[in-house]
Amino acid sequence: MNDTQVYFVRKASVENFKKILERIDFINDLINPKDFVALKTHFGEDGCNTFIPAEFYKPIVDLLLKKDALAFFTDTNTIYVGKRANAVEHFMLAKRHGFDMGIPIIIADGIKGNDYVEVEINLRYFKKAKIASNIYYSDVLICLTHFKGHMLFGFAGSIKNLGMGCAARPGKYLLHNVLKPKVKVEKCRGCGRCVSYCPVDALSLDNQNKIILDTSRCTGCAECIHICLNKVFSIPWDLSYKEVQERTVEYAYAAVKNKKSLFINFLFNITKDCDCINKNQIPAIENLGIVLGFDPVSVDYASLSIVNEYYRKDIFKEFWPHIDYSYQINYAQEIGLGKKKYTLREI
Ligand code: SF4
Ligand code: SF4
Repeated sequence: MNDTQVYFVRKASVENFKKILERIDFINDLINPKDFVALKTHFGEDGCNTFIPAEFYKPIVDLLLKKDALAFFTDTNTIYVGKRANAVEHFMLAKRHGFDMGIPIIIADGIKGNDYVEVEINLRYFKKAKIASNIYYSDVLICLTHFKGHMLFGFAGSIKNLGMGCAARPGKYLLHNVLKPKVKVEKCRGCGRCVSYCPVDALSLDNQNKIILDTSRCTGCAECIHICLNKVFSIPWDLSYKEVQERTVEYAYAAVKNKKSLFINFLFNITKDCDCINKNQIPAIENLGIVLGFDPVSVDYASLSIVNEYYRKDIFKEFWPHIDYSYQINYAQEIGLGKKKYTLREI
């Protein structure tokens, strides 16, 4: 199996991002004038302080404008209740978080998250994947990813950003719906907070003010796990998270099928949890740099190795001891999304 090339610059900064982009000069190979270029990112949930700051992206925006590409920032709506669950609030949040940089912000799956194209993939879990329309119709997809920990994936990199991040809301439901939270009813204090947050009305209080979960309605979005302050809900540490990882990998495959694409991981502000959490997090890892390549599997695998080699231990395993993140990487290689084997070129 041939290696793929992965490029790396130490320390993530605007200057170093500019440097790596100029040295690799991918723009002329990848992009034609008037190409629609989707810059897929995560604008950070309201209250999150560790998403990649918008100004980091200025070098790539400048290059795309110079090339006369039709570039836009994009993401898809969430299934949990927050400030990114519809395109209007999502757009306003992106602006508040600084993404008003001379190119449009277009939420890819429309105002209510139901604007998608079904992409045929014929894989183990899905025959077709519901990919957000404005990502599907773009000519080029550039995945700008904050590399970090994640409660279901162990780590979240380009594969996760592609798979979950390019799925329209109905697709996101299908990715999660194997995962129902475990409930410790005796800990419930009847505050009702989770009831109002559950996006599908799967939670209610009984006449003794204790929580009831209707598993037939629950889509496994995990919102209640974050919302309940009394730790009533928890992730079922069985292998259902494996299936969520593998399903997401199939959506990642669909998102880049027949599409020119580039993957950039920022190893900066790395936190235990993801940027969907609506609270401040303290980065647990130093600013290690930027990893770039044309294969999402090798870009993620290289990012993981850079972090773990720097600390001489498996940091993401320490964050999430019950999660085996290798399912996402191995299944991605198995279905041909990319290769684990890479050659690292330091810029
Ligand atoms: S948020 Fe927690 S304590 Fe409050 S009702 Fe829900 S389960 Fe009970
Ligand atoms: S009960 Fe299910 S659908 Fe509702 S918030 Fe919890 S995980 Fe999500």
